[in-house]
Amino acid sequence: DDISRIRNFSIIAHIDHGKSTLADRLILATGGLSEREMTHGQVLDNMEIEQERGITIKAQTVRLNWKAADGETYELNLMDTPGHVDFAYEVSRSLAACEGALLVVDAAQGVEAQTLANVYQSIEHDHEIVPVINKIDLPAADPEGVKQEIEEIIGLDASQAVLASAKSGIGIPDILQAIVDRIPPPKGDRTAPLKAMLVDSWYDPYLGVVILVRVIEGVLKKGQQVKFMAAGTTHLVDRVGCMRPKIEQLPELAAGEIGFITAQIKEVAETRVGDTITDAKRPTATALPGFKEVQPVVFCGLFPVDAADFEKLRESLYKLRLNDASFSFETESSAALGFGFRCGFLGLLHLEIIQERLTREYDLDLITTAPSVVYRMHLTRSKKDATSGGRSFETGLRRGSVPPQDEREGESGSGGQIIELHNPADMPDPNRIEMIEEPWISATIYTPDEYLGAILKLCQDRRGIQKGLTYVGSGSHQRAQLTYELPLNEVVFDFYDRLKSISRGYASFDYEQIGHREGDLVKMSILVNEELVDALSMITHRGTAEARGRGMCERLKELIPRHLFKIPIQAAIGGKVIARETISAMRKDVTAKCYGGDATRKRKLLEKQKKGKAKMREYGNVSIPQEAFIAALRMG
Ligand code: GDP
Ligand code: MG
Repeated sequence: DDISRIRNFSIIAHIDHGKSTLADRLILATGGLSEREMTHGQVLDNMEIEQERGITIKAQTVRLNWKAADGETYELNLMDTPGHVDFAYEVSRSLAACEGALLVVDAAQGVEAQTLANVYQSIEHDHEIVPVINKIDLPAADPEGVKQEIEEIIGLDASQAVLASAKSGIGIPDILQAIVDRIPPPKGDRTAPLKAMLVDSWYDPYLGVVILVRVIEGVLKKGQQVKFMAAGTTHLVDRVGCMRPKIEQLPELAAGEIGFITAQIKEVAETRVGDTITDAKRPTATALPGFKEVQPVVFCGLFPVDAADFEKLRESLYKLRLNDASFSFETESSAALGFGFRCGFLGLLHLEIIQERLTREYDLDLITTAPSVVYRMHLTRSKKDATSGGRSFETGLRRGSVPPQDEREGESGSGGQIIELHNPADMPDPNRIEMIEEPWISATIYTPDEYLGAILKLCQDRRGIQKGLTYVGSGSHQRAQLTYELPLNEVVFDFYDRLKSISRGYASFDYEQIGHREGDLVKMSILVNEELVDALSMITHRGTAEARGRGMCERLKELIPRHLFKIPIQAAIGGKVIARETISAMRKDVTAKCYGGDATRKRKLLEKQKKGKAKMREYGNVSIPQEAFIAALRMG
């Protein structure tokens, strides 16, 4: 507990460069776990999905004790940070809890977009950065080239970079010694009033909510009454400890230390990352800077394929939220899809993780509506006028959705109102909208030269504004570094998948939000037999509306079975039809062929329909199998 022998550090790496493997090696080398325990796989990635996707969702920290060259034993706190841009704020708090970082770069891949974003943050936090060139065991390893890249691209001195192979255990003691020698000890007065940062929290079935803290000043003890300054709540600390990675209880955590506490807190939502924890009786004068409430930025509807699963979906969402206060949900009903939930996420990957967990861990079959960002609608008139109108196609149909409870409203410059819109179905009448603003991002893309043309075209097609194009690295490591400003709306719409496929996986991508900008945006509606299909509404740029509308009409034409009469399928903006397809009427004598010919297939379909009557939706006398909606939505 001598502060001069504490080192707090995190590991920065692009996905797959070896962060988790290295963390495991460090734990093994310092005796935190045996080789046998280690073979269970990566210790820090303790969720099944994390292991499969190779990303770390929740930050965890491990305390390592290591005897350095000077014969003294040091307390090394390794902070594992979330690996994805969607969790940028959590990453920033983890970094704020450390004095240094290991920068892990794959010796065969070199510096990637995500490495860069994280390293800049680390530099902003005044970290001492120790470059580690990993995977030197690979035949394609080029440590000298990568060193040069670190110097050229990041501007760090790489002459002292540690060469390592986390997989085969090369360079591990060198890394530990470099941490002791090069990363400064924390500073902080243990006699001052308690000031600690809430770095992360998660729900543990045995301990309740566990809170990861970094003590800045003072001492945190068992039995202490503490106050969470931003949340405004007080709690009694009932456990104090650290993870090695097994839990070890301690009498206290003092200035400079990282560890955990529990305080009989039931829900993760009561704890806010970045909050300041202080002593209730002897509080600190000022809270820590940088506290920010995270807000979901991407929304979509989640509906159970089987209407009977609605309650199960609700329960599953509650359970997931126990451990992830950053996603939100509220009930939503759709004429096409029945009852479901409107959910908010920190980003696309976050959405995918939740969706995948619901499918896999909770065994739910789900329909996901097209993801939407948060639009700011500047209205011209009073709220009463604006929200009651605007549903010209919805007469006779159930209302699209319950009004969002967390709608934030304010006054726009011209005296009208501003509404934050999370669901295209809730869009007010276009006549009442003075202006729409959409969120924009700044994206950094790294790519080998051969894919550059295709990527430039993709960005251009998505309304991107090119901000920079330079080449970095040399020889086989040379890559184009592209910066683009893009509307987030265009990115949530399969951008990442497209980028990966046109670059055969070689391009890397990272982004940050840069605020809202005015856009020429419209709500596009889809009508089947002149009736609106709410689940297929989307907000899109006027310039791309027609192409998207045409695509959707063509798909629906393929998916909706023929009837005895003609069925028009239309895409419309306001009252104006922008694309149209027609399903021709079938002749009575070809009934057997209506679902594609084969009699057994037809019988199966009819049986299916009988089983779940709710799965057929009526649109102006047209029965549409729910599968058609699902297929239309899944094709994006
Ligand atoms: P993370 O995404 O940064 O946490 O990366 P992981 O630690 O999950 O490693 C990604 C992949 O690289 C895994 O298949 C590891 O086995 C492999 N890997 C990690 N370190 C090394 C190394 O030093 N050499 C080689 N050859 N492979 C490694
Ligand atoms: Mg990992």
